[in-house]
Amino acid sequence: MSVHIRNFAIIAHIDHGKSTLADRLLEHTGTVSNREMKEQLLDDLELERQRGITIKARAVVMQFERNGKKYELNLIDTPGHVDFQYEVSRSLACCEGVLLLVDAFQGVEAQTVANAYAAMEHDLKIIPVINKIDLMHARPDEVAEEMMNSLGTDPDECVRVSAKTGEGVDGLVDAIIEHIPPPTGDPKATLQAMVFDSNYDDYRGAITYVRIMQGTVKKGQKIAFLRSGTSHEVVELGRFAPQRQSTDVLAAGQVGYLICNIKSLGDVHIGDTISIPGDKAAEALPGYSRPKRMVYCGLFPSDGQDFSELRDALERLAVNDPSFEFEPETSDALGFGFRCGFLGLLHMEIVQQRLEKESDVDLVQTAPNVTYEIINKRGETITIHKPQDVPDPGDIEEFRQPIVRCNVIVPDDFIGAVMKLCQERRGIQQSQEYLAAGRAMLTYDIPLAEVVYDLHDKIKSATRGYGTLDYEMVGYEAADLCRLDIMVNGNRVDALSVVCNKADADRRGRAVAKTLKKEIERHMFEVAVQAAIGSRVIARETVPAMRKNVTAKCYGGDITRKRKLLQKQKEGKKRMKAIGNVEISQKAFMAVLSDG
Ligand code: GDP
Ligand code: MG
Repeated sequence: MSVHIRNFAIIAHIDHGKSTLADRLLEHTGTVSNREMKEQLLDDLELERQRGITIKARAVVMQFERNGKKYELNLIDTPGHVDFQYEVSRSLACCEGVLLLVDAFQGVEAQTVANAYAAMEHDLKIIPVINKIDLMHARPDEVAEEMMNSLGTDPDECVRVSAKTGEGVDGLVDAIIEHIPPPTGDPKATLQAMVFDSNYDDYRGAITYVRIMQGTVKKGQKIAFLRSGTSHEVVELGRFAPQRQSTDVLAAGQVGYLICNIKSLGDVHIGDTISIPGDKAAEALPGYSRPKRMVYCGLFPSDGQDFSELRDALERLAVNDPSFEFEPETSDALGFGFRCGFLGLLHMEIVQQRLEKESDVDLVQTAPNVTYEIINKRGETITIHKPQDVPDPGDIEEFRQPIVRCNVIVPDDFIGAVMKLCQERRGIQQSQEYLAAGRAMLTYDIPLAEVVYDLHDKIKSATRGYGTLDYEMVGYEAADLCRLDIMVNGNRVDALSVVCNKADADRRGRAVAKTLKKEIERHMFEVAVQAAIGSRVIARETVPAMRKNVTAKCYGGDITRKRKLLQKQKEGKKRMKAIGNVEISQKAFMAVLSDG
């Protein structure tokens, strides 16, 4: 009996019920029995459960019989956040269709639109699905119309379900079989498979997730990764059902995993093509690119002694997450630490949380910055990951920053508030359209640096939680930027350099100088705090000289109290850093860094 295969993904805005629906599908196809059912089976990282987001793509096969036919539905789970856009696109490249899931109360949101566009770019069959019809305030008819207006889906094709109660899920399985085209591909052709995910198993090494496009792969055979140029023997292969289930063969159209004794995830590139070694190999599949780190920050142990512990923890993380990168960095102010690169803000937050959870290191994080490009006077393009590396003004021909296109979806009462926020952040409006009565989508091009800072939080609070934001990279554009330095008695404090717009430099420079003045204790001599662009000083504050004697308050009386105070002062000193001959407390640095 031949097997009918369908490969699909569920795409949705966060919290619209993707994981819950995946669970119901596993249940209704008998892949997991009721008894085995653990809420949200697909989100197996603890952090994902806590935050309710799907971070890494997964693939589960559902095998069942219906009307005398054998089916194999592969559900490919995609990450829900823009930071992982590239992984989403690789997962979609393995599908023939998607379920576009929308909450029957919330309606179309920013990530619904972003995900639907991505599916259209891959020419996938889209099945519109309205979820949560059990909710008392569900408004499925209006939502179907919203979807038609914003995404062009046919209201008559909308499948209405409740992932909570299971209502409509059987009909959805029928719709998947009926409307999503079966994969094409010749099992006898030369092997050509897409790598769309990988994870790391302490015992087995890298587990590579693949979709076989052409040909067949067998246990024990030699395969080649075309982009990385390495060859391996397939030790084990199989599928997730949802546990690892080994088989002997995977053929064109199927989705599964390969294990090849690969010791680090750094050797498995998402988007790579697998074929046979030698000159008869198939062509590489299109769309491959390296992970692009867009956001950087410094991570320092708050106690200098934890440096090697932090390094070990970072190394462990990097084995599991090849899109995260780090290199040692030394700062006058914060000591030895690391400069770390992330795909985006959420990725940064995830890594930080894992670090704090999985190691005992107490972290100090410097303000995040984006990756800049500079064309110097010799016409060379340099990529900048930290503000300290920006050359002096005289050597800069052009200063460029990354721009992202932001889609914000809001109830129309809040349009004014959102426009104001976007304009303040140097956004340039691209369009404004109504998705339905009372709901609008605003599109702005905004410098990523402005988005990184706090735009999402600001939009949330300006719209009482109703506004949603999504963005994608547009490219680099020249801007009037500069490196703003902070000098203490003439010495530059490396950790405090920032890149900012020239128009903002005066205000920021004055603010930092003021904050720092308050935080620096008086010395025996006068301390000058200056903000400067290159050699040009734009703000200055002075900490007057004064001999500080903490025991003076004790009037010579209580000797034990005097000792205690001296002891305290000594401990305070430990957390001091010397900039030239000026001592600055870590607290002072943190006060400035957290001001942004
Ligand atoms: P995801 O972020 O898209 O994966 O969404 P989840 O599956 O985690 O669901 C988000 C929340 O919506 C959870 O609290 C679910 O229990 C709830 N939910 C999901 N589907 C339904 C539904 O059909 N009806 C109701 N009432 N709640 C649902
Ligand atoms: Mg989820």
